Amino acid sequence: MTIQRHPNLWPPFTQIATTASPQRVTAGEGALLFREQGGPLIDAISSWWVTLHGHAHPVIAEAVADQARRLEQVIFADFTHEPAEQLAIRLSGITGLQRLFFSDNGSTAVEVALKIACQWWANRGQPRHQIVAFDGAYHGDTFGAMAVGERNLFSAPFEDKLFPVARVPWPSTWWNDSEVNTKEAASLQVLEAALETPTAAVILEPLLQGAGGMTIVRPEFLQEVEIRTKTSGALLIADEVLTGFGRCGDWFASRRAGIRPDLMALSKGLTGGCLPMGVTMASEAIFEAFIGKDPSLTLWHGHSFTANPLGCAAAVASITLLETNPAAFQNFEARHRPYLKRLDQHPRVERTRLVGTVAAFDLVVKGPAGYLNPAGPAIKRIAMEHGVFLRPLGQVIYLLPPLCISDAQLAQCYEAVGTALDQI
Ligand SMILES: *Cc1c(COP(=O)(O)O)cnc(C)c1O
Repeated sequence: MTIQRHPNLWPPFTQIATTASPQRVTAGEGALLFREQGGPLIDAISSWWVTLHGHAHPVIAEAVADQARRLEQVIFADFTHEPAEQLAIRLSGITGLQRLFFSDNGSTAVEVALKIACQWWANRGQPRHQIVAFDGAYHGDTFGAMAVGERNLFSAPFEDKLFPVARVPWPSTWWNDSEVNTKEAASLQVLEAALETPTAAVILEPLLQGAGGMTIVRPEFLQEVEIRTKTSGALLIADEVLTGFGRCGDWFASRRAGIRPDLMALSKGLTGGCLPMGVTMASEAIFEAFIGKDPSLTLWHGHSFTANPLGCAAAVASITLLETNPAAFQNFEARHRPYLKRLDQHPRVERTRLVGTVAAFDLVVKGPAGYLNPAGPAIKRIAMEHGVFLRPLGQVIYLLPPLCISDAQLAQCYEAVGTALDQI
């Protein structure tokens, strides 16, 4: 089956010289994607980690359609509207952060958090410049987000344009990891040294680094990071673009970890994965430093589609779905565990880890670690032949399914992974 590449499309994160042409998808329903050619596929990675309740969810579709017939978009500087106000009330309730600033995606939600943090210090007449971030971090693809993310092949052409950041090791852990205490202590030591320089903010992905390889840290570690960050006066930014809205088994990963960030970046599952939208949540104490007669105190930032009513309506509908059935995310870890325990015995599996809806392990393979390892594409191809869509991160294989996936579909995912492991 050869598929012709479209002559006008430029796909994301893809080298077309070395990858197969994309397949045309005609519809989605629940955990399934329907293709023009070939059978249905289980979307085991929630279409790049965004699809929360399943594809084409009727409740979200209805909310968006209803809103589109009433008000599709309005400038948000001189006007407000009910979907935005509703969403602000709901989000401040579940995050514990009172103020909401809108943008369009995860990268911009991070950019806004960084700008708020830096300007917060400037507005109070005590400018601080240093930002602290973690090794392996991924915060998005715009310049500020790239600067705080791990520098790699993807950011290399822009290296000279990225602002400097102090780096702290990420003490990732897994089942039966005997080194975790040592790794955490070493990391905290580096953090303490970095915080001796006046620091505007510490940014991290709570519990789970996503694009960096689905690596997890313990709640205890994050609590120690929080203590040191707050003692230094620096603001704590939680990038919950991936981990928010039940992904990690609680409403937010920071809540599950027992930490209270000052700023939070949200996107991906915010609208149930239905429409692009980002928000940055901020504490009232931060917001207050931006109020006053002096125009320089203002956060001079905004996007054309700020608080798009369709996105707001989708987000409110998605949060209602989560509230109606929190067991769907609270109990997901228990659904993964028995399958993952079995996989953990496989000779090709190491560093098994699990948090909420996300199950991951490393392949025992030769060759380069990271995105360029060839074993990932082989696993992907074999799983696809068994009706399951995976997208390994190099030698890291993970399942990150939508909440609606059935028991039979989840079993099929693990069967496909097992078969692929036996065949490579
Ligand atoms: C995906 C992601 C981003 C970037 O979000 P985009 O919507 O792709 O810009 C930022 N941070 C984390 C943790 C992410 O997983």
